[in-house]
Amino acid sequence: AHPPLLQLLEAVRDNAMNKNVVKGDCVVYWMRMEDLRIRDNRALAQASAQAQLSGIPLVVLHVLSPQDFTAHDRSARRIDFTLRNLQVIRSELAKLDIPLNTVSHTPRTNIPAFVVELLQKWNASHLFANIEYEVDELRRDLAVCKLANERGKVACAFVHDKCIVAPGDVRTKEGRGYTVYSPFLRTWAPLLDKTASNHLQEAKSPTTNASSIRSHPVFGALFNVVVPDSVEGFSLEPEERERITICWHAGEDAAHEMLRQFLYTASRSSHLGAMDPLEDANEAVKDPGKHSRLGKYKDQRDRLDSDTTSRLSPYLAAGVISARACVREALVATGKKKVDTSRDTGVGRWIQELAWRDFYTHIVALFPRVSMGRPFQEKYADVRWETSEEHLQAWKDGRTGVPIVDAAMRQANEMGWMHNRGRMIAAMYLVKDLMIDWRLGEKYFMETLIDGDLASNNGGWQWSASTGVDPAPYFRIFNPYTQSQKGDPGGEYIRTFVPELAKVRGPEVHNPPPALADKLGYPRPLVDHKEARERAIRRYKNIGSK
Ligand code: FAD
Repeated sequence: AHPPLLQLLEAVRDNAMNKNVVKGDCVVYWMRMEDLRIRDNRALAQASAQAQLSGIPLVVLHVLSPQDFTAHDRSARRIDFTLRNLQVIRSELAKLDIPLNTVSHTPRTNIPAFVVELLQKWNASHLFANIEYEVDELRRDLAVCKLANERGKVACAFVHDKCIVAPGDVRTKEGRGYTVYSPFLRTWAPLLDKTASNHLQEAKSPTTNASSIRSHPVFGALFNVVVPDSVEGFSLEPEERERITICWHAGEDAAHEMLRQFLYTASRSSHLGAMDPLEDANEAVKDPGKHSRLGKYKDQRDRLDSDTTSRLSPYLAAGVISARACVREALVATGKKKVDTSRDTGVGRWIQELAWRDFYTHIVALFPRVSMGRPFQEKYADVRWETSEEHLQAWKDGRTGVPIVDAAMRQANEMGWMHNRGRMIAAMYLVKDLMIDWRLGEKYFMETLIDGDLASNNGGWQWSASTGVDPAPYFRIFNPYTQSQKGDPGGEYIRTFVPELAKVRGPEVHNPPPALADKLGYPRPLVDHKEARERAIRRYKNIGSK
C-alpha cells in the first residue's frame, strides 16, 4: 500500500496496542459521506460490538465539512442526497435508542482536533470509522489517530469497508497492486469465494442501546440534534430538489428495492427520464438469471434507450447499500453458489462492473497522485489542450450539435446521473473531439452528478483521456455517430433528452442535416469529427515535441 494508507493502518495498530485504554462512557462510530447505512456496515458493527462488550452506549457522529465539499467539487445534489439519507438514518437509529449527532465544522484542517475534543467531552473509550481512501482523508484520519493517542485514551479503529476486497489485498506474485484490470479481476474474483476471508459476509446490524441513554444528561440531549435540510452554498432550488428526490429516494429500503427490481424484473423503455424509478414496478420474471435486467445485462448494458442497468451508483457511492450486498443478492437471484465473473452471463458482467469499482478505488489508495490532478501515466502530463470556454460551456449545456453527446449531458443536468455509455461518449467527445483537458470534464461531472465518486470518476476520465491505468489507447477514438446508432438505435434516448429533436424520426436523429437542425433550433456541430480525430491523434503522438 502507499504511504498515507500504510501510515494510517500502522497508526491504528499502534493506537490499538496502547493498552492504557480505560473504560469510557461511550463508543463512537463516525459515519462518513460514503457509508450512509446501518445494515452491513463494518465499522458500525464493530463499534456496536465494542459498546456491548464494555456495557456502554453507542453514539453516532457525522461531521458536515463544507470546505471538503468544495475541495472535492461535491455537487449540491450529492449533499442534498447525503442530508436526506442522514434524516432517514437518524430516525432508524433512534428506534434503536442510538443518537445521531450531525454537526457542521469549518475549517477542515481543524476537524481532527474538533473530533478528538468531542471524544474527550463524551469520555469515549473507542472511535470506529470506515476508511476513506482519498489522500486528504487518509491524512485527516492519521491526525485523528495521533491526537486521540496523545491527548486521550481513545482507541481508534479505521476499518476497510468500501471495497469488496480491501486495497492492498489484491496482489501480483511480486506483491504489488495491479494497474491492469483483467489480471486484477482474475486475482480478485477467487478471493470472494474464500470462506475464510469473509469478503462477502454481511456485517452484523447494531444492537439497541439501553433505553437509559435517553435520560443521560449529555447523550440524551443528542437525540434532539436534527439533520439540517441544506448546507449553505450547496442547496437546491425547490423545483430541482423535488425532481432529484423523485429520481433518487433516500434510504436503505429504497436502495434494496432498486436492487430487487434490477435482479428480478425486466427493463422498461418508458423509464428513461427524470421519473420515479420505483413506481409501477414490473412483475418479477420467472427466471431472473435469464430474463431480468441482470439476466440481460450482458447484451443490453450498453443500450441507452431503456433502463438496462441497476442505477445503484448513487447508493453505492454514498454507501447506502454495500457492494457486498449487491454481489450476495445477485448470486442468490441467479442461484449461483460461487462468484461468477464470466463475460458470458448477465450476473458475471455485472459483478465485473463492481470489480471496476474496487479496481479504481485501489488505484486511488495505492497511487494517490491520481487524486491530485495528475495523469496516472506521467508522459501524458503535457498534452496540448484547447482552451475554448465557448466549447466547454456548450458541452456542459448539451449544445454541441452532436445529439448523443447532448442527450447524455442533458440527462446528467436533469437527473444528476448518466448512463455509463453516455459518460464514455460524452467524456471521449470532450477530450478527443474538442481537445479540452479531461480534468475540466472530471470536475464538471463531480459538480453535477449525484453519484460523484473520486475514484470511479477519475478512472473513467483517465480511461477516456488515455492517460490512466489500463486506458483506451489514444488512437482508439469513439465516433459519436456510430456510438449513437449502436446505443440508441431508434433514437428514443435522444428524443427524451433533446426536445428540439423530439419529432425527428429515422436515422436523421443521430446527425440532423444542417437545414433541419436550423429549422428546429438545434445547434450545428462544434467541430468536424474526422478532422478533430486527426488533430487528437497528432497531439497525443507529438507529446514532448515543440
Ligand atoms: P451498473 O451498470 O448497474 O453497475 C453497477 C455498479 O458497478 C455501479 O453502480 C457502480 O458502482 C459500479 N460500476 C459500474 N461501472 C463502473 C465503472 N466503469 N467504473 C467504476 N465502477 C463502475 N461511477 C460512479 O459511481 N461515480 C462516478 O462519479 C463515475 N464517473 C464516471 C465518469 C466517466 C467518464 C465514466 C466513463 C464512468 C464513470 N462512472 C462513475 C462509472 C459508471 O459510469 C457508473 O458507475 C454507472 O454508469 C452507474 O450506473 P449503474 O449504477 O446503473 O451501473
